[in-house]
Amino acid sequence: MTVQNTRIYLDYNATAPVLPGVASAVISALELKGNASSVHAEGRAKRSTIEKARDSVSRLTGSLSSSVTFTSGGTEANTTIVQGLLKSGFISSVLCSSVEHPSVLEHVSVDSRVAVSANGALDLHALEHAIKDHTDPFLFCLMLANNETGVIQPVKEAAAIVHDHGGLLFCDAVQGPGKIHLDFNSLGADFYSISAHKIGGPQGVGCVVSNSNIDLSPVLIGGGQERMRRSGTENVSGIAGFGAAADLVVQMDDFRPIANLRDKLEEALIQVRPDAVVFGQEVSRIPNTTNVAIPGLSSERQVIKLDLSGFSVSAGSACSSGKVSASHVLLAMGVPTELAGSAIRISIGAKTSCDDLRAFVDAWADL
Ligand code: PLP
Repeated sequence: MTVQNTRIYLDYNATAPVLPGVASAVISALELKGNASSVHAEGRAKRSTIEKARDSVSRLTGSLSSSVTFTSGGTEANTTIVQGLLKSGFISSVLCSSVEHPSVLEHVSVDSRVAVSANGALDLHALEHAIKDHTDPFLFCLMLANNETGVIQPVKEAAAIVHDHGGLLFCDAVQGPGKIHLDFNSLGADFYSISAHKIGGPQGVGCVVSNSNIDLSPVLIGGGQERMRRSGTENVSGIAGFGAAADLVVQMDDFRPIANLRDKLEEALIQVRPDAVVFGQEVSRIPNTTNVAIPGLSSERQVIKLDLSGFSVSAGSACSSGKVSASHVLLAMGVPTELAGSAIRISIGAKTSCDDLRAFVDAWADL
């Protein structure tokens, strides 16, 4: 086993390293005095830091600044959308794809989860079937890209079907920005969620983006911050870092180098282990993600051994670390439990080099 002197981080879908300028934006905001709700000069300076970041995030999402509500991250944004709509009475039921992130999935009963095909993409016929008898207003939740397999979901097509049946569509876009070209307006969802730490911003901040006139009932109530939509003193330094990351991500336009690296990685993996299985390869995926299984070798063993060799990868999603159960995403794709329990996720980013991946393949081949 090769012991690395320097570590190689291949877990960008868990958290992407901060982009240049993000840490200094966070520190500058931290050093400001005052509370953004105060009317004095210090309060107003904090407020303008928040509003500048809101403009940046709204440019990234092609939305009005007033549509962006800051939250403590993707999980809170997802909860705010689902629970806020239920609480407001605009919807009476919630359905979702069977591969959603747990922060969505766990709001939805098992029989309201819509199947995906073996390739990991939503089965649009299953969606039609699930909603055809819905006479009540409903919400369908469909993520933009799956955090474990990278599979890009047919959000635009699903939104058209859902709207035809009088429903609303919420898209968890957490794994999208910075990985693919995105035109949020043409996707046609009514609500989006984003998380800063997945795009090179700080952890603990995210947002809801509303493309709808419908007001979500607030889930956090109290001081009435964020135009009464989300109470609690704002995480101004986190929000400033989110804005700085959004300013850089909005300029990213060439994702081919990452896709080329990922494709070469997958070729090399199959060359050294022809029995390995790569999931979701048949459909469009975000270009940085590979989910691969070595039959007979558990995910945990692989992750631990790779860690000891200096490589950071994850078994399924980081959010499920600590749970020794096969990925719900792979199971929903019909992958046998034992094979699903042998899968690891490798997610790369701007700082990943060809040499990093060569070293990774050598270590993986030695497992
Ligand atoms: N949605 C998706 C698709 C994710 O990948 C994650 C985190 O892994 C979340 C939501 C939760 O975001 P956060 O970590 O900001 O709570």
